[in-house]
Amino acid sequence: MPQAELELGAVGGDREMARLAALESLAILDTPAEPGYDAITRLAADYFEAETAVIEFADETRVWVKSHCGGALRELPRAHSVFDLVLAADGPVVVPDIREHPDFRGQKMHLQAKGVVFLAGVPVRADDCVVGMLAVFRRQTRGALLENELRTLNNLATMVSSQLELHKLRANTKKQRGRQPRPVRALSRSWLRNADLRRAIDRREFVLYYQPVVEMKTLKIVGLEALIRWQHPERGLLTPMDFIPAAEDCGLILPIGDWGLAEACSQIQAWTHENPDNQSLRVCVNLSARQFSRQGLADHVESLLMQSGTSSRQLGLEMTESSLIPNMGTALEVLEGLRALGISISMDDFGTGYSSLSYLHSFPIDVLKIDRSFVGRISEGDQPLQIVRTIIELARVLKIDVVAEGIETSEQYQVLRELGCGFGQGYLFARPLPAEQVTGLLRLPGRVLPRPEITEAQRTSYVV
Ligand code: C2E
Ligand code: MG
Ligand code: MG
Repeated sequence: MPQAELELGAVGGDREMARLAALESLAILDTPAEPGYDAITRLAADYFEAETAVIEFADETRVWVKSHCGGALRELPRAHSVFDLVLAADGPVVVPDIREHPDFRGQKMHLQAKGVVFLAGVPVRADDCVVGMLAVFRRQTRGALLENELRTLNNLATMVSSQLELHKLRANTKKQRGRQPRPVRALSRSWLRNADLRRAIDRREFVLYYQPVVEMKTLKIVGLEALIRWQHPERGLLTPMDFIPAAEDCGLILPIGDWGLAEACSQIQAWTHENPDNQSLRVCVNLSARQFSRQGLADHVESLLMQSGTSSRQLGLEMTESSLIPNMGTALEVLEGLRALGISISMDDFGTGYSSLSYLHSFPIDVLKIDRSFVGRISEGDQPLQIVRTIIELARVLKIDVVAEGIETSEQYQVLRELGCGFGQGYLFARPLPAEQVTGLLRLPGRVLPRPEITEAQRTSYVV
Protein backbone atom coordinates (compact mmCIF):
# COMPACT_ATOMS: atom_id res chain seq x y z
CA MET A 1 0.00 0.00 0.00
CA PRO A 2 2.10 2.95 -1.28
CA GLN A 3 0.30 5.55 0.81
CA ALA A 4 1.01 3.67 4.00
CA GLU A 5 4.63 3.06 3.03
CA LEU A 6 5.01 6.80 2.47
CA GLU A 7 3.56 7.47 5.91
CA LEU A 8 5.83 4.85 7.42
CA GLY A 9 8.84 6.74 6.13
CA ALA A 10 7.52 9.91 7.73
CA VAL A 11 7.08 8.30 11.13
CA GLY A 12 10.20 6.14 11.10
CA GLY A 13 13.54 6.93 12.76
CA ASP A 14 13.81 7.31 16.54
CA ARG A 15 10.10 7.15 17.09
CA GLU A 16 9.82 3.86 15.23
CA MET A 17 12.80 2.48 17.18
CA ALA A 18 11.15 3.42 20.49
CA ARG A 19 7.90 1.88 19.29
CA LEU A 20 9.56 -1.40 18.38
CA ALA A 21 11.41 -1.48 21.71
CA ALA A 22 8.11 -0.96 23.59
CA LEU A 23 6.51 -3.74 21.56
CA GLU A 24 9.40 -6.10 22.20
CA SER A 25 9.29 -5.51 25.95
CA LEU A 26 5.67 -6.69 25.94
CA ALA A 27 6.58 -10.04 24.37
CA ILE A 28 3.05 -10.23 23.03
CA LEU A 29 3.71 -11.26 19.42
CA ASP A 30 2.83 -14.86 18.57
CA THR A 31 1.34 -15.54 22.02
CA PRO A 32 -1.77 -17.73 22.23
CA ALA A 33 -5.30 -16.33 22.19
CA GLU A 34 -6.51 -14.92 25.52
CA PRO A 35 -10.09 -14.42 26.64
CA GLY A 36 -9.41 -10.88 27.91
CA TYR A 37 -8.52 -9.63 24.42
CA ASP A 38 -11.24 -11.67 22.75
CA ALA A 39 -13.86 -10.14 25.05
CA ILE A 40 -12.79 -6.68 23.82
CA THR A 41 -13.05 -7.51 20.13
CA ARG A 42 -16.42 -9.12 20.80
CA LEU A 43 -17.61 -6.00 22.61
CA ALA A 44 -16.29 -3.77 19.80
CA ALA A 45 -17.96 -5.84 17.06
CA ASP A 46 -21.27 -5.88 19.00
CA TYR A 47 -21.21 -2.20 19.80
CA PHE A 48 -20.44 -1.05 16.23
CA GLU A 49 -22.51 -3.78 14.58
CA ALA A 50 -19.39 -4.66 12.64
CA GLU A 51 -18.69 -7.98 10.94
CA THR A 52 -15.07 -7.89 12.09
CA ALA A 53 -13.08 -6.41 14.96
CA VAL A 54 -9.38 -6.98 15.50
CA ILE A 55 -6.57 -6.23 17.90
CA GLU A 56 -3.28 -6.11 16.00
CA PHE A 57 0.33 -5.47 16.91
CA ALA A 58 2.78 -4.29 14.26
CA ASP A 59 6.49 -5.06 14.09
CA GLU A 60 8.77 -3.79 11.32
CA THR A 61 7.26 -5.81 8.53
CA ARG A 62 4.09 -7.54 9.61
CA VAL A 63 0.91 -6.94 11.50
CA TRP A 64 0.11 -9.79 13.85
CA VAL A 65 -3.46 -10.35 15.01
CA LYS A 66 -3.80 -11.04 18.75
CA SER A 67 -7.58 -11.26 18.65
CA HIS A 68 -10.17 -11.25 15.96
CA CYS A 69 -13.90 -11.41 16.10
CA GLY A 70 -15.45 -12.38 12.79
CA GLY A 71 -12.19 -12.98 10.92
CA ALA A 72 -9.57 -15.68 10.66
CA LEU A 73 -6.41 -13.87 9.56
CA ARG A 74 -3.46 -14.39 11.92
CA GLU A 75 -1.11 -11.92 10.27
CA LEU A 76 -0.57 -9.85 7.14
CA PRO A 77 2.20 -7.71 5.66
CA ARG A 78 2.28 -4.37 7.45
CA ALA A 79 1.97 -2.54 4.12
CA HIS A 80 -1.42 -4.18 3.54
CA SER A 81 -2.83 -3.11 6.86
CA VAL A 82 -4.33 0.22 7.90
CA PHE A 83 -2.05 0.25 10.94
CA ASP A 84 0.27 2.85 9.41
CA LEU A 85 -2.61 5.26 8.87
CA VAL A 86 -3.47 4.98 12.56
CA LEU A 87 0.19 5.31 13.52
CA ALA A 88 0.62 8.41 11.35
CA ALA A 89 -2.56 9.99 12.71
CA ASP A 90 -1.46 9.12 16.26
CA GLY A 91 -5.16 8.93 16.99
CA PRO A 92 -8.41 7.51 15.65
CA VAL A 93 -8.87 7.01 11.91
CA VAL A 94 -12.45 6.71 10.70
CA VAL A 95 -13.23 6.07 7.04
CA PRO A 96 -17.00 5.98 6.37
CA ASP A 97 -16.54 4.68 2.81
CA ILE A 98 -13.14 3.45 1.72
CA ARG A 99 -14.28 3.39 -1.97
CA GLU A 100 -14.35 7.16 -1.89
CA HIS A 101 -11.22 7.71 0.15
CA PRO A 102 -8.07 8.79 -1.71
CA ASP A 103 -5.76 6.64 0.43
CA PHE A 104 -7.49 3.49 -0.75
CA ARG A 105 -7.98 4.35 -4.42
CA GLY A 106 -6.77 1.77 -6.89
CA GLN A 107 -5.41 -0.54 -4.24
CA LYS A 108 -5.93 -4.23 -4.04
CA MET A 109 -6.01 -4.44 -0.28
CA HIS A 110 -7.24 -7.49 1.46
CA LEU A 111 -9.98 -5.28 2.93
CA GLN A 112 -11.49 -4.52 -0.45
CA ALA A 113 -11.33 -8.18 -1.31
CA LYS A 114 -13.46 -8.87 1.77
CA GLY A 115 -15.99 -6.25 0.74
CA VAL A 116 -15.14 -3.95 3.63
CA VAL A 117 -16.47 -0.43 3.18
CA PHE A 118 -16.34 1.21 6.59
CA LEU A 119 -13.43 1.14 8.99
CA ALA A 120 -12.51 2.74 12.25
CA GLY A 121 -9.17 2.18 13.97
CA VAL A 122 -7.60 3.53 17.15
CA PRO A 123 -4.06 3.18 18.45
CA VAL A 124 -3.20 0.75 21.24
CA ARG A 125 -0.43 2.26 23.33
CA ALA A 126 2.22 0.87 25.64
CA ASP A 127 4.95 2.98 27.27
CA ASP A 128 3.54 6.00 25.43
CA CYS A 129 4.18 4.37 22.04
CA VAL A 130 1.64 3.15 19.49
CA VAL A 131 2.34 -0.59 19.44
CA GLY A 132 -0.81 -1.72 17.70
CA MET A 133 -4.40 -0.90 16.97
CA LEU A 134 -7.96 -1.88 17.66
CA ALA A 135 -10.10 -1.69 14.52
CA VAL A 136 -13.61 -2.48 13.40
CA PHE A 137 -14.59 -3.23 9.80
CA ARG A 138 -18.08 -3.18 8.27
CA ARG A 139 -19.37 -4.24 4.89
CA GLN A 140 -21.91 -1.45 5.02
CA THR A 141 -21.16 2.20 5.12
CA ARG A 142 -22.31 4.45 7.89
CA GLY A 143 -21.71 8.04 8.93
CA ALA A 144 -18.71 9.24 10.91
CA LEU A 145 -18.63 8.13 14.53
CA LEU A 146 -20.53 10.19 17.08
CA GLU A 147 -18.60 11.63 19.98
CA ASN A 148 -19.73 8.95 22.45
CA GLU A 149 -18.99 6.19 19.89
CA LEU A 150 -15.48 7.51 19.42
CA ARG A 151 -15.06 7.64 23.18
CA THR A 152 -16.17 4.02 23.46
CA LEU A 153 -13.71 2.95 20.78
CA ASN A 154 -10.92 4.81 22.59
CA ASN A 155 -11.99 3.26 25.90
CA LEU A 156 -11.87 -0.20 24.40
CA ALA A 157 -8.35 0.52 23.13
CA THR A 158 -7.41 1.66 26.65
CA MET A 159 -8.74 -1.67 27.92
CA VAL A 160 -6.35 -3.42 25.53
CA SER A 161 -3.51 -1.28 26.90
CA SER A 162 -4.59 -2.22 30.41
CA GLN A 163 -4.58 -5.90 29.53
CA LEU A 164 -0.99 -5.36 28.47
CA GLU A 165 -0.23 -3.54 31.74
CA LEU A 166 -1.88 -6.23 33.84
CA HIS A 167 0.07 -8.86 31.93
CA LYS A 168 3.31 -7.05 32.84
CA LEU A 169 2.19 -6.41 36.42
CA ARG A 170 1.34 -10.07 36.91
CA ALA A 171 4.66 -11.16 35.43
CA ASN A 172 6.49 -8.79 37.83
CA THR A 173 4.41 -9.87 40.84
CA LYS A 174 5.13 -13.50 40.06
CA LYS A 175 8.85 -12.70 39.88
CA GLN A 176 8.71 -10.93 43.25
CA ARG A 177 6.71 -13.74 44.87
CA GLY A 178 9.30 -16.17 43.60
CA ARG A 179 11.92 -14.30 45.64
CA GLN A 180 10.01 -13.99 48.92
CA PRO A 181 8.56 -16.70 51.13
CA ARG A 182 4.87 -16.24 51.99
CA PRO A 183 4.76 -15.86 55.74
CA VAL A 184 1.04 -15.47 56.41
CA ARG A 185 -0.17 -19.01 55.70
CA ALA A 186 2.84 -20.52 57.41
CA LEU A 187 2.23 -18.35 60.47
CA SER A 188 -1.41 -19.30 60.71
CA ARG A 189 -0.51 -22.99 60.58
CA SER A 190 2.35 -22.88 63.07
CA TRP A 191 0.18 -22.47 66.14
CA LEU A 192 -3.29 -23.21 64.88
CA ARG A 193 -4.73 -26.68 65.20
CA ASN A 194 -8.02 -27.83 63.77
CA ALA A 195 -9.21 -28.53 67.29
CA ASP A 196 -8.76 -24.82 68.13
CA LEU A 197 -11.00 -23.83 65.24
CA ARG A 198 -13.59 -26.43 66.22
CA ARG A 199 -13.60 -25.18 69.78
CA ALA A 200 -13.92 -21.60 68.58
CA ILE A 201 -17.09 -22.55 66.68
CA ASP A 202 -18.55 -24.28 69.74
CA ARG A 203 -17.62 -21.43 72.08
CA ARG A 204 -18.93 -18.80 69.69
CA GLU A 205 -15.64 -16.93 69.55
CA PHE A 206 -16.14 -15.60 66.04
CA VAL A 207 -17.63 -12.15 65.52
CA LEU A 208 -18.54 -10.15 62.46
CA TYR A 209 -17.33 -6.60 62.01
CA TYR A 210 -19.02 -4.46 59.38
CA GLN A 211 -17.46 -1.85 57.12
CA PRO A 212 -19.71 0.73 55.43
CA VAL A 213 -19.84 1.00 51.65
CA VAL A 214 -20.81 4.52 50.62
CA GLU A 215 -22.14 6.20 47.53
CA MET A 216 -19.23 8.40 46.48
CA LYS A 217 -21.32 11.41 45.54
CA THR A 218 -23.42 11.64 48.71
CA LEU A 219 -21.46 9.56 51.26
CA LYS A 220 -24.70 7.76 52.06
CA ILE A 221 -24.15 4.29 53.51
CA VAL A 222 -25.66 1.95 50.91
CA GLY A 223 -24.23 -1.29 52.18
CA LEU A 224 -21.96 -3.02 54.63
CA GLU A 225 -19.30 -5.66 54.15
CA ALA A 226 -19.25 -8.32 56.86
CA LEU A 227 -15.66 -9.13 57.85
CA ILE A 228 -15.02 -11.97 60.25
CA ARG A 229 -12.83 -11.71 63.36
CA TRP A 230 -11.84 -14.31 65.94
CA GLN A 231 -11.91 -13.17 69.54
CA HIS A 232 -9.19 -15.57 70.65
CA PRO A 233 -9.07 -16.14 74.42
CA GLU A 234 -5.26 -15.77 74.58
CA ARG A 235 -4.23 -14.07 71.36
CA GLY A 236 -6.81 -11.31 71.24
CA LEU A 237 -8.70 -10.21 68.16
CA LEU A 238 -7.48 -12.10 65.08
CA THR A 239 -8.06 -11.01 61.47
CA PRO A 240 -9.19 -13.39 58.70
CA MET A 241 -5.68 -13.83 57.31
CA ASP A 242 -4.68 -15.43 60.63
CA PHE A 243 -7.15 -18.30 60.40
CA ILE A 244 -9.24 -18.36 57.16
CA PRO A 245 -6.52 -20.10 55.09
CA ALA A 246 -6.23 -22.83 57.73
CA ALA A 247 -10.02 -23.12 57.97
CA GLU A 248 -10.14 -23.57 54.19
CA ASP A 249 -7.46 -26.23 54.25
CA CYS A 250 -9.23 -28.36 56.86
CA GLY A 251 -12.76 -27.76 55.56
CA LEU A 252 -13.96 -26.00 58.72
CA ILE A 253 -14.59 -22.95 56.55
CA LEU A 254 -18.00 -24.51 55.78
CA PRO A 255 -19.43 -24.37 59.32
CA ILE A 256 -17.63 -21.04 59.95
CA GLY A 257 -19.07 -19.66 56.72
CA ASP A 258 -22.55 -20.89 57.62
CA TRP A 259 -22.29 -19.19 60.99
CA GLY A 260 -21.18 -15.96 59.21
CA LEU A 261 -24.11 -16.05 56.78
CA ALA A 262 -26.65 -16.75 59.53
CA GLU A 263 -25.15 -14.05 61.77
CA ALA A 264 -25.16 -11.46 58.95
CA CYS A 265 -28.80 -12.30 58.16
CA SER A 266 -29.91 -11.88 61.76
CA GLN A 267 -28.00 -8.57 62.00
CA ILE A 268 -29.73 -7.30 58.83
CA GLN A 269 -33.03 -8.21 60.48
CA ALA A 270 -32.10 -6.29 63.63
CA TRP A 271 -31.13 -3.16 61.67
CA THR A 272 -34.29 -3.35 59.56
CA HIS A 273 -36.38 -3.80 62.68
CA GLU A 274 -34.81 -0.72 64.24
CA ASN A 275 -35.48 1.37 61.14
CA PRO A 276 -37.48 0.14 58.11
CA ASP A 277 -35.43 2.50 55.90
CA ASN A 278 -32.55 0.10 56.46
CA GLN A 279 -34.37 -2.30 54.14
CA SER A 280 -32.44 -0.65 51.33
CA LEU A 281 -29.13 -1.68 52.93
CA ARG A 282 -27.28 -4.62 51.53
CA VAL A 283 -24.90 -6.64 53.67
CA CYS A 284 -22.22 -8.49 51.74
CA VAL A 285 -20.60 -11.66 52.98
CA ASN A 286 -17.33 -13.07 51.62
CA LEU A 287 -17.34 -16.60 50.23
CA SER A 288 -14.17 -18.63 49.84
CA ALA A 289 -13.51 -21.06 47.00
CA ARG A 290 -14.47 -24.06 49.09
CA GLN A 291 -17.82 -22.52 50.00
CA PHE A 292 -18.45 -21.59 46.40
CA SER A 293 -17.81 -25.12 45.15
CA ARG A 294 -20.20 -26.62 47.71
CA GLN A 295 -22.97 -28.75 46.19
CA GLY A 296 -26.37 -27.04 46.22
CA LEU A 297 -24.99 -23.68 47.36
CA ALA A 298 -27.99 -21.65 46.15
CA ASP A 299 -30.48 -23.96 47.95
CA HIS A 300 -28.38 -23.76 51.07
CA VAL A 301 -28.27 -19.94 51.03
CA GLU A 302 -31.99 -19.82 50.29
CA SER A 303 -32.78 -21.95 53.33
CA LEU A 304 -30.56 -19.72 55.53
CA LEU A 305 -32.46 -16.69 54.25
CA MET A 306 -35.78 -18.34 54.96
CA GLN A 307 -34.79 -19.41 58.46
CA SER A 308 -33.92 -15.84 59.38
CA GLY A 309 -36.74 -14.26 57.38
CA THR A 310 -34.28 -12.03 55.52
CA SER A 311 -35.06 -10.66 52.09
CA SER A 312 -32.57 -11.87 49.47
CA ARG A 313 -32.34 -8.26 48.20
CA GLN A 314 -30.54 -7.40 51.42
CA LEU A 315 -27.81 -9.98 50.96
CA GLY A 316 -24.78 -9.85 48.71
CA LEU A 317 -22.03 -12.40 48.22
CA GLU A 318 -18.43 -11.51 47.42
CA MET A 319 -16.05 -13.87 45.73
CA THR A 320 -12.72 -13.57 43.99
CA GLU A 321 -11.85 -14.69 40.51
CA SER A 322 -9.64 -17.38 42.01
CA SER A 323 -12.76 -18.93 43.59
CA LEU A 324 -14.47 -19.08 40.22
CA ILE A 325 -11.57 -20.45 38.19
CA PRO A 326 -11.31 -23.93 39.75
CA ASN A 327 -15.09 -24.23 39.36
CA MET A 328 -15.39 -22.84 35.85
CA GLY A 329 -17.54 -25.73 34.68
CA THR A 330 -20.29 -25.05 37.19
CA ALA A 331 -19.62 -21.38 38.09
CA LEU A 332 -22.15 -19.96 35.65
CA GLU A 333 -24.92 -22.23 36.87
CA VAL A 334 -24.16 -21.54 40.55
CA LEU A 335 -24.01 -17.76 40.01
CA GLU A 336 -27.25 -17.80 38.06
CA GLY A 337 -28.89 -19.81 40.86
CA LEU A 338 -27.83 -17.22 43.43
CA ARG A 339 -28.82 -14.35 41.17
CA ALA A 340 -32.24 -15.91 40.59
CA LEU A 341 -32.81 -15.67 44.34
CA GLY A 342 -32.19 -11.91 44.09
CA ILE A 343 -28.76 -11.99 45.75
CA SER A 344 -26.19 -9.60 44.34
CA ILE A 345 -22.82 -10.96 43.31
CA SER A 346 -19.61 -8.97 43.75
CA MET A 347 -16.28 -9.76 42.14
CA ASP A 348 -13.83 -8.98 44.94
CA ASP A 349 -10.19 -7.81 44.63
CA PHE A 350 -10.63 -7.19 40.91
CA GLY A 351 -7.36 -6.63 39.09
CA THR A 352 -5.24 -8.96 41.19
CA GLY A 353 -6.31 -12.29 39.76
CA TYR A 354 -6.80 -13.32 36.19
CA SER A 355 -8.78 -10.16 35.47
CA SER A 356 -10.17 -11.85 32.47
CA LEU A 357 -12.68 -9.58 30.85
CA SER A 358 -14.48 -12.54 29.37
CA TYR A 359 -15.71 -13.67 32.79
CA LEU A 360 -17.31 -10.30 33.32
CA HIS A 361 -18.85 -10.49 29.93
CA SER A 362 -20.35 -13.90 30.41
CA PHE A 363 -20.96 -14.16 34.19
CA PRO A 364 -23.89 -12.53 35.96
CA ILE A 365 -21.92 -10.10 38.12
CA ASP A 366 -23.51 -7.04 39.72
CA VAL A 367 -20.54 -5.35 41.37
CA LEU A 368 -16.82 -5.04 40.64
CA LYS A 369 -14.64 -4.26 43.63
CA ILE A 370 -11.37 -2.63 42.61
CA ASP A 371 -8.59 -4.08 44.71
CA ARG A 372 -7.08 -1.72 47.22
CA SER A 373 -3.55 -2.26 45.88
CA PHE A 374 -4.58 -0.15 42.84
CA VAL A 375 -6.46 2.42 44.90
CA GLY A 376 -3.43 2.80 47.20
CA ARG A 377 -1.16 3.61 44.25
CA ILE A 378 -3.59 5.77 42.34
CA SER A 379 -1.66 8.95 43.06
CA GLU A 380 1.70 7.39 42.31
CA GLY A 381 1.66 7.79 38.57
CA ASP A 382 -0.02 6.95 35.38
CA GLN A 383 -0.11 3.17 35.42
CA PRO A 384 -2.36 2.40 38.42
CA LEU A 385 -4.52 5.39 37.48
CA GLN A 386 -5.00 4.05 33.96
CA ILE A 387 -5.84 0.60 35.27
CA VAL A 388 -8.46 2.00 37.65
CA ARG A 389 -9.86 4.25 34.92
CA THR A 390 -10.18 1.27 32.62
CA ILE A 391 -11.86 -0.94 35.20
CA ILE A 392 -14.41 1.82 35.85
CA GLU A 393 -14.96 2.32 32.14
CA LEU A 394 -15.30 -1.40 31.56
CA ALA A 395 -17.89 -1.66 34.32
CA ARG A 396 -19.79 1.25 32.81
CA VAL A 397 -19.94 -0.44 29.41
CA LEU A 398 -21.08 -3.69 31.03
CA LYS A 399 -23.52 -1.85 33.35
CA ILE A 400 -21.90 -3.21 36.51
CA ASP A 401 -21.56 -1.16 39.72
CA VAL A 402 -18.05 -0.36 40.92
CA VAL A 403 -16.81 -0.18 44.50
CA ALA A 404 -13.27 1.08 45.13
CA GLU A 405 -11.76 -0.68 48.15
CA GLY A 406 -9.24 0.72 50.59
CA ILE A 407 -9.80 4.47 50.14
CA GLU A 408 -7.61 6.05 52.78
CA THR A 409 -7.00 9.63 51.66
CA SER A 410 -9.07 12.56 50.46
CA GLU A 411 -6.90 12.65 47.36
CA GLN A 412 -7.77 9.06 46.44
CA TYR A 413 -11.42 9.88 47.06
CA GLN A 414 -11.28 12.93 44.78
CA VAL A 415 -9.49 11.10 41.97
CA LEU A 416 -11.95 8.20 42.12
CA ARG A 417 -14.91 10.55 42.08
CA GLU A 418 -13.52 12.29 39.02
CA LEU A 419 -13.05 8.92 37.32
CA GLY A 420 -16.76 8.25 37.86
CA CYS A 421 -16.42 5.52 40.49
CA GLY A 422 -19.89 5.09 41.98
CA PHE A 423 -19.15 3.55 45.38
CA GLY A 424 -16.31 3.38 47.86
CA GLN A 425 -15.12 1.70 51.02
CA GLY A 426 -12.12 2.45 53.18
CA TYR A 427 -10.62 3.84 56.35
CA LEU A 428 -11.31 7.38 55.10
CA PHE A 429 -15.02 6.79 55.67
CA ALA A 430 -14.99 4.16 58.41
CA ARG A 431 -13.02 1.10 59.46
CA PRO A 432 -14.66 -2.29 59.97
CA LEU A 433 -16.64 -1.87 63.20
CA PRO A 434 -18.57 -4.07 65.62
CA ALA A 435 -22.31 -4.15 64.91
CA GLU A 436 -23.23 -1.85 67.84
CA GLN A 437 -21.02 0.93 66.50
CA VAL A 438 -22.44 0.53 63.01
CA THR A 439 -25.91 0.91 64.50
CA GLY A 440 -24.78 4.41 65.57
CA LEU A 441 -23.65 5.26 62.04
CA LEU A 442 -26.93 4.02 60.57
CA ARG A 443 -28.75 6.51 62.78
CA LEU A 444 -27.02 9.46 61.09
CA PRO A 445 -29.61 11.54 59.18
CA GLY A 446 -30.15 9.95 55.77
CA ARG A 447 -27.37 7.48 56.74
CA VAL A 448 -24.98 10.07 55.32
CA LEU A 449 -21.46 10.10 56.73
CA PRO A 450 -19.83 13.49 57.34
CA ARG A 451 -17.62 14.67 54.46
CA PRO A 452 -14.15 13.25 55.02
CA GLU A 453 -12.27 16.46 54.16
CA ILE A 454 -13.70 18.40 57.05
CA THR A 455 -14.17 15.72 59.62
CA GLU A 456 -10.76 14.25 60.25
CA ALA A 457 -11.26 14.80 63.99
CA GLN A 458 -14.89 13.71 64.04
CA ARG A 459 -14.12 10.54 62.20
CA THR A 460 -11.58 9.30 64.71
CA SER A 461 -14.36 9.32 67.28
CA TYR A 462 -16.08 6.38 65.65
CA VAL A 463 -13.09 4.78 63.95
CA VAL A 464 -11.64 1.88 65.96
P1 C2E B 1 -11.78 -8.29 51.40
O1 C2E B 1 -13.07 -8.96 51.19
O2 C2E B 1 -11.12 -7.69 50.21
O3 C2E B 1 -12.00 -7.21 52.54
C1 C2E B 1 -11.42 -5.95 52.57
C2 C2E B 1 -10.23 -5.94 53.49
O4 C2E B 1 -9.63 -4.65 53.40
C3 C2E B 1 -10.62 -6.10 54.96
O5 C2E B 1 -9.55 -6.78 55.60
C4 C2E B 1 -10.66 -4.66 55.44
O6 C2E B 1 -10.45 -4.54 56.82
C5 C2E B 1 -9.54 -4.06 54.66
N1 C2E B 1 -9.70 -2.62 54.46
C6 C2E B 1 -10.84 -1.92 54.31
N2 C2E B 1 -10.60 -0.61 54.12
C7 C2E B 1 -9.26 -0.47 54.15
C8 C2E B 1 -8.38 0.66 54.00
O7 C2E B 1 -8.77 1.80 53.79
N3 C2E B 1 -7.04 0.41 54.07
C9 C2E B 1 -6.54 -0.85 54.30
N4 C2E B 1 -5.23 -1.00 54.36
N5 C2E B 1 -7.35 -1.94 54.43
C10 C2E B 1 -8.69 -1.74 54.35
P2 C2E B 1 -9.82 -7.98 56.58
O8 C2E B 1 -11.02 -7.70 57.43
O9 C2E B 1 -8.53 -8.30 57.25
O10 C2E B 1 -10.22 -9.16 55.61
C11 C2E B 1 -9.29 -9.72 54.74
C12 C2E B 1 -9.92 -10.69 53.79
O11 C2E B 1 -10.41 -11.85 54.49
C13 C2E B 1 -11.16 -10.12 53.10
O12 C2E B 1 -10.73 -9.33 52.04
C14 C2E B 1 -11.86 -11.41 52.68
O13 C2E B 1 -11.32 -11.90 51.49
C15 C2E B 1 -11.50 -12.37 53.80
N6 C2E B 1 -12.67 -12.50 54.70
C16 C2E B 1 -13.15 -11.62 55.61
N7 C2E B 1 -14.24 -12.10 56.23
C17 C2E B 1 -14.49 -13.34 55.68
C18 C2E B 1 -15.49 -14.34 55.89
O14 C2E B 1 -16.42 -14.21 56.69
N8 C2E B 1 -15.40 -15.47 55.12
C19 C2E B 1 -14.41 -15.65 54.21
N9 C2E B 1 -14.37 -16.78 53.49
N10 C2E B 1 -13.45 -14.73 53.98
C20 C2E B 1 -13.48 -13.58 54.72
MG1 MG C 1 -14.69 -8.67 50.26
MG1 MG D 1 -11.42 -7.04 48.49
